[in-house]
Amino acid sequence: MIHVKQVTKAYGDVQALRGVSFDVAAGEIVGLLGPNGAGKTTLIKILTGYLQPDDGEASIDGLDVLTQTRAAQARIGYLPENAPLYPELSVQTYLRMMADLRNIPPDQQPARISAAVRATALGDYLTRPIGALSKGLRQRVGLAQAILHQPRLLILDEPTVGLDPTQIVEIRHLIRRLSQHSTILFSSHILSEVEAVCDRVIILMNGQIRADARLSELGTTHNAIVVLQHPVNGVAEALRGLKGVRQVELLDGDSRRVTYRLHGADNADLCPLVFEAARTMNWPLRELRPDARTLESVFNELATHSA
Ligand code: ATP
Repeated sequence: MIHVKQVTKAYGDVQALRGVSFDVAAGEIVGLLGPNGAGKTTLIKILTGYLQPDDGEASIDGLDVLTQTRAAQARIGYLPENAPLYPELSVQTYLRMMADLRNIPPDQQPARISAAVRATALGDYLTRPIGALSKGLRQRVGLAQAILHQPRLLILDEPTVGLDPTQIVEIRHLIRRLSQHSTILFSSHILSEVEAVCDRVIILMNGQIRADARLSELGTTHNAIVVLQHPVNGVAEALRGLKGVRQVELLDGDSRRVTYRLHGADNADLCPLVFEAARTMNWPLRELRPDARTLESVFNELATHSA
């Protein structure tokens, strides 16, 4: 659905994107995560045909965004970071105007508008001026206009920025519902949001992709955490001698409890080996688990590395 290859973009001296490449298949929900200034909005503007890259290729559903801009845009529903809503228009009038702008034939407009209003639960607010709505409701209006033409791809730039916690949860549910019919790419700098909504995350830092993985895989390591009830002589050496252990790191230890992190070689499955060693040597094993990383720790590690 999305193909991006070696895209670069500079604003004067500021290199916003430095050779970004990725593909998104139909049906995925992908979170584009990055700190402020990482290049998320620039990438989204290129994908939606609002900005030309300096170099590289980008296409939507096989349509080149540079040479087939209009056709590519017709496949996209786009919610910009600051959606240009018209405060004096009612929700209904605004959606009719957007249906016209989207070239939806007049006889199809009532059904399309009803479907978008139903999806975004705006039925009670149709006659209200947009300017009188809460930020969360305005965001829903923005989403309603984005799905009017039943796009195959929804691109949402920071869809929950400025919303309160209840509104954030509502928009997350809405995004999940919309994903039943559309592929979704949305940008955010909120880790918990991406964790709650996405299947896959692309982490952008300083205009470069630093990680691109399914959420379930991102935290996977070959490491293990071993906690002993009390110190035992020779354990570290014995652990170091196990097959697949690259390094034994003492994380914490006092007279009551000792915690090690074992760094495993690729494809190592350390827990069964440690369990067997502990049983044979009668170690006071209190805890043994794979050392999964959270999205937050992956992000922080990359950010530190980037800096
Ligand atoms: P945020 O989360 O703050 O919206 P972002 O990841 O969307 O950030 P971009 O807005 O794409 O990042 O900006 C990437 C870089 O390009 C930043 O250094 C920004 O200051 C710079 N930049 C963006 N737009 C312009 C512009 N019109 N002129 C000059 N520099 C720009």
